[in-house]
Amino acid sequence: MAAPLIYLDNNATTPCDPRVVEFMLPYFYEKPGNAASRNHPFGWVAEEAVMQARDQVSELIGVEAREIVFTSGATESNNLALKGIFELYRRKGSHIITVKTEHKAVLDTCGRIERTGGEVTYLEVGMDGLISLEALDAAIRPDTIMVSVMWANNETGVVQPMQKIGEICDKHGVLLMSDATQAVGKIPVNPKEVGVHLMAFTAHKMYGPKGVGALYVSRRQPRVRIAPLIDGGGHEQGMRSGTLNVPGIVGFGKAAELAAREMVQDGQRLRRLRDKLENAMLNKLEEAYLNGNLETRLPHVSNISFRYAESEAVMMTFNQGVALSSGSACTSASIEPSHVLIAMGLSAEMAHSALRFSLGRFNTEEEIDYAIEAVVNGVNKVRGMSPVWELFKEGMLDG
Ligand SMILES: *Cc1c(COP(=O)(O)O)cnc(C)c1O
Repeated sequence: MAAPLIYLDNNATTPCDPRVVEFMLPYFYEKPGNAASRNHPFGWVAEEAVMQARDQVSELIGVEAREIVFTSGATESNNLALKGIFELYRRKGSHIITVKTEHKAVLDTCGRIERTGGEVTYLEVGMDGLISLEALDAAIRPDTIMVSVMWANNETGVVQPMQKIGEICDKHGVLLMSDATQAVGKIPVNPKEVGVHLMAFTAHKMYGPKGVGALYVSRRQPRVRIAPLIDGGGHEQGMRSGTLNVPGIVGFGKAAELAAREMVQDGQRLRRLRDKLENAMLNKLEEAYLNGNLETRLPHVSNISFRYAESEAVMMTFNQGVALSSGSACTSASIEPSHVLIAMGLSAEMAHSALRFSLGRFNTEEEIDYAIEAVVNGVNKVRGMSPVWELFKEGMLDG
């Protein structure tokens, strides 16, 4: 019997819900219109569909439909928010504050902003992955134009205290932006309630299609303006030109509607499965450490370091038949330990021993049981072949 292939990498991308796919299909052939075509029914049908999707997406996060800018995904949304504010607010200043554990879509964009004359402060995080509110407060200067803090971390699931961060930014009168890609559709997210003025998210992390995302841009109190990255036909109120991806946007809308309806139930089910998986790992294996704050985190994510069991080697023992992410990232030159785990103070060795389990709507209890067995056996096998583990067990290594 062939070994099953189990997908526990839902933070990398989620499967597209079949209900979403079905909803999208007519917009490829039967309803081919360009939403900007104003003079025939094909265009009107497409425009109507985009309007509905804009309502669905905006309702999920409690904002107005006109505050949603459709993009190609969260990478573009993050670029648009950061560069768009940097360009328009330069008279006020050129200082931006972000966090060391942000996604590359934010960090690399900040890197470019630095190379074009901006100044960026990268806040540290504690061992639990949370920023220090005092450090944020102290980092804000008269020339600070924006603070960018991700809502929930993609590697650890740690959720930042957005409400308190919003209060601090409000006190200083600086804009707050958030990469909420991993939080939207998984936990209640409402930027207006917490004082977030710009927010990036994407369809393919919430059971929608790839290649479509959104940027929320506050239109009232305050009215935020951003410079576009792309010039063209003036779509999306001039903030993002280019023919709208109608099937993608329709799918994003449907995914948002489903998330609004099923998020709580999904979260409860996945939390139980995640906790089962975590408890099994910690009970069956010595020297297993959960990474990140356990009180404030997403319900479907677990990041665990198995000391002296390099994660890539563990995954090889089950032939990658359980799809996971490791605490290692391949760059062109080498394998680097995760910048998120390093920022939390883990050693390179502990980062390379980390596995990220990210569960999703379509995972079953049987799959979790299988994954537990595969990983426990894998860790034991790798340790069994490790002279370092042997030395450790003999008490020859300290700590
Ligand atoms: C996946 C992800 C992104 C990138 O989203 P795309 O839609 O693939 O561009 C950005 N930020 C976070 C936190 C993510 O998890």
